[in-house]
Amino acid sequence: MSKQAPPVQSQALTQLERIVRQNMRTPGADVRHPLLRDRTDRLLGVLEGMNTWVSEFNNLGTMTYSSPQIEQILGFTADQSMGDDCIEFHPMDLPLVIDTSRSVRNSGKPATNHTRMRHRLGHWVWVENSVIGWTNEAGEYHSVVFSRDISDIKRAESMQKESEARYRVVSQMSVDLITEMDEDGRYQYVGHGSVEILGYTEAELIALKPWALIHPEDCERVRAQFGEQFILPFDTNRLDRTLHTIQARFQHKDGRWLWFETQGVTYPRDQGARRYLAVNRDVSERILAEAARREFEENMQRSQKLESLGVLAGGIAHDFNNLLTPIMGAAGLGLMELPKDSPVRARMQTIHRASKRAAALTNQMLAYAGQKPLRVEQIDLSSIVEDMRDLATSSVAGKTTIDLKLARNLPLVEGEAAQLSQVIMNLISNAAEALPEGKGRLSIRTGTISITHHSSEILFAETMPLGDHVFFEVSDSGCGMDKETIDRIFDPFFTTKFTGRGLGLAAVAGIVRGHRGGIRVESEAGRGTTFQVIFPALAAKAAIPGPETSANHTFKLHGIALVIDDDEGVRELASEVLLRAGMKVLTATDGHEGVKLFEHHADKISIVLLDRTMPSLSGADTFKAIHAIRANAKIVLVSGYSEERVTAELGSCTLAGFLKKPFEPEDLLKRVQEVLDTIT
Ligand code: ADP
Ligand code: MG
Repeated sequence: MSKQAPPVQSQALTQLERIVRQNMRTPGADVRHPLLRDRTDRLLGVLEGMNTWVSEFNNLGTMTYSSPQIEQILGFTADQSMGDDCIEFHPMDLPLVIDTSRSVRNSGKPATNHTRMRHRLGHWVWVENSVIGWTNEAGEYHSVVFSRDISDIKRAESMQKESEARYRVVSQMSVDLITEMDEDGRYQYVGHGSVEILGYTEAELIALKPWALIHPEDCERVRAQFGEQFILPFDTNRLDRTLHTIQARFQHKDGRWLWFETQGVTYPRDQGARRYLAVNRDVSERILAEAARREFEENMQRSQKLESLGVLAGGIAHDFNNLLTPIMGAAGLGLMELPKDSPVRARMQTIHRASKRAAALTNQMLAYAGQKPLRVEQIDLSSIVEDMRDLATSSVAGKTTIDLKLARNLPLVEGEAAQLSQVIMNLISNAAEALPEGKGRLSIRTGTISITHHSSEILFAETMPLGDHVFFEVSDSGCGMDKETIDRIFDPFFTTKFTGRGLGLAAVAGIVRGHRGGIRVESEAGRGTTFQVIFPALAAKAAIPGPETSANHTFKLHGIALVIDDDEGVRELASEVLLRAGMKVLTATDGHEGVKLFEHHADKISIVLLDRTMPSLSGADTFKAIHAIRANAKIVLVSGYSEERVTAELGSCTLAGFLKKPFEPEDLLKRVQEVLDTIT
């Protein structure tokens, strides 16, 4: 302090003391008390220990006192501040400065302002000035200013303003909905776009009850996850620890359910309250697309699994067939050769019957393998169902009646009638088995359907052609299935029944795949099941009747047949069968004899049955010799080998037909009729 300081100081201190006394509520204290000296020292101590710069001004506005704290605030020493004209306010704040001092002088009441003051180093410092003024006994006006540095507060304030502005802009720019909730889950703030996103205005959302929009199935989970967030300690440096994602369905005001992904974090507010700040994004499209993709993949996997199981089953069936052919053939031929009263006959019959049953089983396995239908016919699904009406009715006897809705004039499908009947029968018996005793509903429907895309709801959709299809559908009101069951029903040996074998639907799957069809299953546990089997429709609608499949069909054949076989049993069986059907029959015991007979009756013979394996002249050579006589001769080759192998031996000559040994009388008649019916 300078030398002339004491009187000034005492003036300032008188006033200060008054303030201190007021603040400290020490009633009755008197500055002119003998202890004044002591008190002044104490006050000086207080003053200099404060973080506040005190300055005093006289009537003329000249600074008469400046406390040393000015140095911390503006960089000048107290002396400098009083001597030089170094106090400078920001030009923009000058009106405020003048205003404040005028108001204090006029009203006599203290006032405060915030202004910028120039630091000795040139930059501006925010300062809060509290001004008091009074007129002393001599009638002179004095004022004292308490100034403190508020740069930090100002900086924080402006940062907050900036961040609020930024937050508002982000919230407006965002396509996501930004929300803030309290600990009860009530919206406290809703950002822009709520109308576009959820159909509700911001005010409507804030007025909603907590969790009102969340899907009932998601609500409990969401609340639990939400609650956990409030338990976590808050740490700005480790936001990732509290930041988390919740997926849930929200209901749009128009009733639609939307999938939302909510990324949120809790943060503390004043007085310890915490808020949950969240960015909510509508991810419905993504979720739906993902679900569709997953379903498609699962479906694909299922098809692939069935396919590989099919390859396995097919391989086994093929090997077994190779073994069964000689067994069945030899038993069949043996039976033909044995005298009627032979004691071995019964044993042979047992072998023959058992081998036929085994063949039926391998056929089922082949069906599961999804091989192409063996004999392709053009089939009307409605009439196949119609044919099976009696069988179906008896399978549901005592439970319900079958409600049939069969479409007339259905487009035909290409396939093997016996296999399609098997599909239908398997589905009907499953439906019947699913019905509770005495009540329930079972309906069968046929119709047309257009397949426009490879739907993931349809098993084997990926191998189905697009376009018009014919369907066959069995619905029951039975026990139904849950999702886990549905996923496995086409697996071989999967069954939920005590006596089930689990092969019914496996065969259905194989056959449908072999026919390039698809299967749709809809089921709900306890409510019922619908199986829809879909086959590609043939473009032409003209009904070409398929060959008769009924076992008791009587064949009416005409013309002369030449049977060439070195095996007497086969020869006799064939002639007997053909004679009964109305044909005339010539027989030859070997190739040479056969060719000779053909030469004689070339114009009259309508069909030749030729054994492939014969001594002297082989089947192939006999075939060529007959062809040489008459190029359009109709020759059916009979062999235990496969047709491909046999035709390969014949070179360029074409076969009219092929009959695989062992054959049943009906197989023979069917083949002969087919060949006779073809026009050459
Ligand atoms: P099985 O009938 O021998 O059990 P399937 O392959 O025919 O074998 O059927 C497999 C399983 O599929 C059945 O055991 C059953 O659980 C289920 N299933 C098939 N059809 C239906 C249906 N209509 N209603 C309910 N469950 C069915
Ligand atoms: Mg079954």
